[in-house]
Amino acid sequence: MQQTVTLRVKPEEAENTPLLHQAIAASTAIATGRISGFTILKSSIDARGRQPFIQLQLLVYIDEPAKGRAIQQAVYRNAHQAASRILIIGAGPAGLFAALQLLEKGIKPVILERGKDVRARRRDLAAINKQGIMNPESNYCFGEGGAGTYSDGKLYTRSNKRGDIQKILNTFVRFGADEKILYQAHPHIGTNKLPQIITAMREQILACGGEVHFNKKVTDLVIEDGTLKAIKTADGDAFAATSVILATGHSARDIFHLLYAKQILIEAKPFALGVRAEHPQSLIDQAQYKCAPRGEWLPPASYSLVQQVQQHGVFSFCMCPGGIIAPAATGPGEIVVNGWSPSRRNNPHANSGIVVQVTEQDVAAVPGFKKQYKSKMDSPLLMLYFQQWVEQRAFEAGGGKLVAPAQRIADFCTGKISQTLPDCSYLPGIHAAPLPEVLPPFVTTALQQAFKLFGNKIKGYYSNDAVIVATESRTSSPVRIPRDGNTLQHPQVKNLYPCGEGAGYAGGIVSAAMDGERVARAICLQLEGI
Ligand SMILES: Cc1cc2nc3c(=O)[nH]c(=O)nc-3n(C[C@H](O)[C@H](O)[C@H](O)COP(=O)(O)OP(=O)(O)OC[C@H]3O[C@@H](n4cnc5c(N)ncnc54)[C@H](O)[C@@H]3O)c2cc1C
Repeated sequence: MQQTVTLRVKPEEAENTPLLHQAIAASTAIATGRISGFTILKSSIDARGRQPFIQLQLLVYIDEPAKGRAIQQAVYRNAHQAASRILIIGAGPAGLFAALQLLEKGIKPVILERGKDVRARRRDLAAINKQGIMNPESNYCFGEGGAGTYSDGKLYTRSNKRGDIQKILNTFVRFGADEKILYQAHPHIGTNKLPQIITAMREQILACGGEVHFNKKVTDLVIEDGTLKAIKTADGDAFAATSVILATGHSARDIFHLLYAKQILIEAKPFALGVRAEHPQSLIDQAQYKCAPRGEWLPPASYSLVQQVQQHGVFSFCMCPGGIIAPAATGPGEIVVNGWSPSRRNNPHANSGIVVQVTEQDVAAVPGFKKQYKSKMDSPLLMLYFQQWVEQRAFEAGGGKLVAPAQRIADFCTGKISQTLPDCSYLPGIHAAPLPEVLPPFVTTALQQAFKLFGNKIKGYYSNDAVIVATESRTSSPVRIPRDGNTLQHPQVKNLYPCGEGAGYAGGIVSAAMDGERVARAICLQLEGI
C-alpha cells in the first residue's frame, strides 16, 4: 500500500530517516515496522512562525517494498544519417534543450556557438575577475551553456504554463544534477556543478550525431525572397539552412543590430533596471529565520521582495544566498552585474538584483539620454540603446577595469557619498560613487523609496551594512523578435525561429529550456508531422 503523508518537522529531523519514520508513524497511526520507506514529493521551508519548520509531502510505502524515485527517461535517437538537420544559433539552455528535443525526434541538430566550451571559458572568467579584462566572445553570458552556466542555477519559474517544467528538471537530473531539484520548492544547482551537466548534454548530442561548433559567431543571415537560405559566420564559413533556431540570448546586441540592418521586424521591449544589493548572509538569516546563527540544518536564507512605488514596480531579481556578485558585461566600456552561487551557497554574503520596471515612455523622458539619442526615439533598438547608455555610465563612474560604482544603501537613500565601503564579493572591485549620477532619476527615486519600505519587510535590510553595486541591467531582453503564434516562425522570414530569452519568450534557465523544446517541437511538426 502507498499513502501520501504531509509532515511538518524541525530542520534537523528533515534529513534523518529514522526520525522521519517515527514522524510518519505518529501522523498515520501505522506501526513503524509496517513502513518500509518513502519518497519525498515536495519539500519547502516554512519560516513564518517563531521558528522555521520543514514542510514535507511524502509518498510512504506500507507493507510493501519501497521503490526508488522514478526519473523520467528520454530516448535520444541516432541522427548520424538523419535526412533533416536544423541549425541552432546559441548553446544556452534554449539552444541545448532544442537540440535534445530534436534528437528525441531523430532530427540532427547543428549548434553554432560564438563562445568556447565550458572548460576553456573558465580561463576567460578568471581574466575578468582577476585582471578586469573581458573577452567579448567568451564571458559570463557567452559560451557553452549560455548565461546559465556560471550562475546560481536557480530552477524555478513562474511560466509554468509554457511547458513541462518536470521534464526540464528530470533532464537536468539525468545529466548529473542532484535528485533534490525534483522536489525542492526552490531548487538550484550551483556554479560548480553546472559545467559538468552542460558537458554531459553536449556529449549526448555528439553521441547521437548532432554537431556542436564553438568559436562560430554568426554574423550574417542570407535571405532570398523572404526565406532564410544560409548562415554566415565570422570566420568565413557558410551553413546552408533549412530551419534555423535563433537562440542567442539577451546580450547578443550584434544580432539585434543585424536584424535591424536587414529590416527584419523586431520590437522594443520593456525590461528592468537597477542595482545588485549585497547584505551579510547572517543578517538575512536572522531576519528570515529569526534565529542566528542558522545552524547546520537550514540553507542560507533567501528573500523575494516586491513593491509598487508611484508608477513603478520595484522587485528583487535572481537572489543568490551565499553568493558572489558577477561581472556580466559583454562589450567594452560597460559594467553589468548579476549573481552566482556555488551549490552549497556557502559564501558570507547574500546578493540580489533590486530592479525597477522600465518602459519606452520612461526612457523617452530621461533628459541626458533623450538629448544623446533624439534621432532614435522611434527605433526598435531604443531600449537596447538605453540599457547600454546606463552600463557605460556605470563603467565611467567605476573608473575602468570592470571596477563597479557602489554605495552603501542608507547613504544612497539619503544622498550621501559613502566614505568607506563594506567588503563586497564583486571580484574586479568596487569604487565609492554617487549612484544617482549613474542611474536615471526615476530609477533612483523608485529604488530610494523601495529600499526604505523593504526595511519594514526584512529587519536590517535598509542599512549601511549593505552595499549596492551598479548596474543590474540584463534582466531580460530589451528587444522582442516576433514570431507567429502557431508556427513560431518569424512573420516575415520563413525558416527563422526566434527562441529563448533573447527573442523575448523566456526569462531564466527553465523557461528558456522550455522555449527551446517548444520551438523544436513546432519545427518537427512542420517538417515531418512528428
Ligand atoms: C551570472 C548570471 C546568473 C544567472 N542566474 C540565473 C539563475 O540562477 N537562474 C535562472 O533561471 N537564470 C539565471 N540567469 C539567467 C539565465 O542564464 C538566462 O535566462 C538563460 O541562460 C537564457 O537562456 P537562452 O538560451 O535563451 O540564452 P543564453 O543563455 O544567453 O544563451 C545564448 C547563447 O547564444 C550565444 N550567441 C550569442 N550570439 C551569438 C552569435 N552571433 N553566434 C553564435 N552564438 C551566439 C551566446 O554565446 C550564448 O551561449 C543568470 C544569468 C547570468 C548572466
